Amino acid sequence: MTGHAIVIGAGIGGLAAALALHRIGWRATVLERAPELGEIGAGMSQAPNALRALDELGVGERARQVGVPTHATANLRTANGRHLQRAHPVEPSPLLAFHRADLHRLMMESLPAGWIRTGSEATGISQDRGSAAVGELSADLVIAADGIGSTARRLLWPDAPAPRFLGRTAWLGVAPIDGLPGSMTLGPGAYFLIHPLSRGRAYWALVATADRPGIRHADEKAEAARRTQDWHDPIPGLIDATPADAVIHIDIRDLDPLPTYVNGRVALLGDAAHAMSPDRGQGAGQSIEDAVVLAAALATEPTVETALRHYDAARRPRTQTTARGARADGRRATSRAAHRALTTMIRLTPASLWRRGIAPDANPTWRWRPPRLG
Ligand SMILES: Cc1cc2nc3c(=O)[nH]c(=O)nc-3n(C[C@H](O)[C@H](O)[C@H](O)COP(=O)(O)OP(=O)(O)OC[C@H]3O[C@@H](n4cnc5c(N)ncnc54)[C@H](O)[C@@H]3O)c2cc1C
Repeated sequence: MTGHAIVIGAGIGGLAAALALHRIGWRATVLERAPELGEIGAGMSQAPNALRALDELGVGERARQVGVPTHATANLRTANGRHLQRAHPVEPSPLLAFHRADLHRLMMESLPAGWIRTGSEATGISQDRGSAAVGELSADLVIAADGIGSTARRLLWPDAPAPRFLGRTAWLGVAPIDGLPGSMTLGPGAYFLIHPLSRGRAYWALVATADRPGIRHADEKAEAARRTQDWHDPIPGLIDATPADAVIHIDIRDLDPLPTYVNGRVALLGDAAHAMSPDRGQGAGQSIEDAVVLAAALATEPTVETALRHYDAARRPRTQTTARGARADGRRATSRAAHRALTTMIRLTPASLWRRGIAPDANPTWRWRPPRLG
């Protein structure tokens, strides 16, 4: 079966969907409300499951050239610098770190010219038995990859609960510092993550508990620095080296599980379907998996309807389990009450056991293999 799909949103999920459709001989029109697609966000990591899915999209090799091997849970410390685990990492590291804009750009550049329409906001969706439409534009299928605040979800899943604030908030930045290894530092009520990036840069994220969403500061960089002023090197220097206007502050939210990701000829994909806490570094990776599974179903199933049923059944359990796990990981890593117990447990775990626990094949999320496209 071939056809034409409208994809709402040109984030990583929407671009992955368009690339996957291209691989199976479908056409796609990607509607993006932003006037242009520029330098966005800070850093992120991609795990082996997502890298295999990128291979199926035909961009795995380029992604591996841009991504920088990193470690987080192989290099764990407390705020005063004490090493909790310094497991000899698996070489080469299965985890790659990217500037979000770099990953986004390489996906965008691999799409046929003219597929993305910027400055195009989807405000209404309609459908009948044979087609689905966004405004005046009609197609065989609509893939709504319009993020955690999805308009499509609000229109077609009116009973779905709004995204939930998880009691955590995060500062993110990218500094021009070369050669820092990936690491994670656990403090009471907060953790600090570092990933090396290409072109001599380092990404950092400070995730901390918060009583309520929406608390903002006149100088977010100064606030992140204040909260970590006594933390070990290189944390204060890393924040100091970050341009103040490049520090992003966001509240952490996720979505309660939806009973289905499909409504007629409309499928939710990525954060629109299953926005999750970032603590497993899986949100974008799961959206790339979604895209490959959806396209594989469209390529093999006799109708759009059966393909979407297959997609829904295949993706809901995995993405919702991952989201549940991420929510729990984030709560545990930032709990003040459990901080001492957590750090003691990690410190007392034998290094060999810890190493086995973080190996790529020990992790059911990382073990996932995509269906073949093409
Ligand atoms: C602090 C933090 C760290 C993270 N770290 C990682 C990580 O290390 N690894 C990882 O895999 N994931 C990570 N994630 C998760 C990841 O960022 C998201 O899961 C991913 O970006 C979701 O992609 P998406 O395309 O589904 O949605 P989005 O990136 O939100 O893209 C949605 C797009 O749709 C557009 N849009 C919205 N509404 C409309 C409309 N009505 N019409 C047209 N266009 C519309 C938006 O402008 C946007 O471009 C992290 C998230 C956070 C918050």
